[in-house]
Amino acid sequence: MIKKLRLITRIGFLSFLLVLCLVTSVQAQGKTTSSAKKPLKVFISVDMEGIWGVVHGNQCSADSPEYQLARKWMVEDTNAIISGLFEGGATEVVVNDSHGSMRNIIASELDRRAELISGSPKPLSMMEGIDSSFQACIFAGYHARAGSAPAILDHTISGAVIYSIKINGIEMPELGINGAIAGHYGVPVVMLTGDIETCRQAREILGNDLVTVSVKEATGRFAARNFPREKVLSDLKEGARKTISSTDKFKLYELKPPYQFEVNFHNSNQAEAGLLVPGVKRIAPRTLSFTTQDYLEGFKLLRALISLASGS
Ligand SMILES: [Zn+2]
Repeated sequence: MIKKLRLITRIGFLSFLLVLCLVTSVQAQGKTTSSAKKPLKVFISVDMEGIWGVVHGNQCSADSPEYQLARKWMVEDTNAIISGLFEGGATEVVVNDSHGSMRNIIASELDRRAELISGSPKPLSMMEGIDSSFQACIFAGYHARAGSAPAILDHTISGAVIYSIKINGIEMPELGINGAIAGHYGVPVVMLTGDIETCRQAREILGNDLVTVSVKEATGRFAARNFPREKVLSDLKEGARKTISSTDKFKLYELKPPYQFEVNFHNSNQAEAGLLVPGVKRIAPRTLSFTTQDYLEGFKLLRALISLASGS
């Protein structure tokens, strides 16, 4: 009888241990699932004219002594955005240096958690590195399209050759041309930084859900009121943090095929070399036009025509 009792007690104790183990393991599994971060990859294309402090082309040209300071401001603006992104839940950030030589951002000064795409030429230029694995795209330090005022260093891709670019009838700033590349890959543009006019154009083209952070107000093409540095850095960080916590509401910027490009140059000679390319028509002395079914194909042809015009 005593033996039987001991056996029952032992079985009871073992069952208790088994249940305890099961409960602990279920809890542990629950914890693993809830703490595992969903990937949240963010692509940032960083131009220079819309960076805080920049008001003149000399600050954006490597041969000017003013350039060294401006590239520091460029990395500071970018780092403020990156720190907000990681605080807001980003798991990976890829930065594409998107101005001139595309070697402006001092690699060792960039937030060490981010990857840097540096140098040129790159097939997708300001958008090199983006693909469908990203959940969000940010344009930092961007500028207004050619022919805007007041706007710091307004131009579209090439100040030397481009008067205007229209795609499907819309006169495009770079933010629209590049926004459609993000849209092509299914990635929404969620935030843009630059001067006040650039932010206005961005909301007009990419939609009012876009978060814009203005860092300065242009008073002319080469002059601006730069907002207090401390406020700008905190706005950039907070803007990125809040934006990335709610990327669901952002719509894609997608243009519909066929894509009709109209490239208006400053001078008629700049249009001439482009006529050597099959499918390109001259619709006015200074204007070339072509149509594609694939947006990236159209973007690459656009860049080829600009290169030909630059060498003419
Ligand atoms: Zn630029």
